[in-house]
Amino acid sequence: MTDPHAGARPERANAALAVLDDDGEEVALDADEADALLALTNGLDPATVSACPSCRSRVLAAVALVDLLDDAPPVARGRELVELADDAPTLHLYVRDLRAECAHRAWLDPGFEEWAEIMAEVVDTPPGVAR
Ligand SMILES: [Zn+2]
Repeated sequence: MTDPHAGARPERANAALAVLDDDGEEVALDADEADALLALTNGLDPATVSACPSCRSRVLAAVALVDLLDDAPPVARGRELVELADDAPTLHLYVRDLRAECAHRAWLDPGFEEWAEIMAEVVDTPPGVAR
C-alpha cells in the first residue's frame, strides 16, 4: 500500500535509452535492453552519423539501423526499432541516453545541433502521446 513505486510513472520510469524519430515517435529501452542492443550492434557504430563522445546519445541513419538490426541476432525491441526506422519521416533517428547526466559539451559536430533541436521539440511533447 505504501510502495513508493506504485503507479509512479509509466514504463518510461525504467527507460535507459530512447530512440526517436523526427516526429517524436519513440521506442524506449530499459537498461538491459539497451545494453543488449549496443552489445549486439557494435555499439550502433555502423549506423551512427554523429555521437556524443561522453554518453550514448547519438544520431543514427535510419536505413543503416535497419541493415544493422537485420544482420544482428534478434534483440529486444528490434522489431519496434525497425518499424520506427521504416516509418521515420527523415533519414535520421535520434538516440537519447536517459541515464546520463551529460551536457554533451564535447559533442561538437553539426549532428549535435540537429539532435538538440529534436530533443527540444520532444521535451514539449506531453508524455504518453507516442506509444
Ligand atoms: Zn552526452
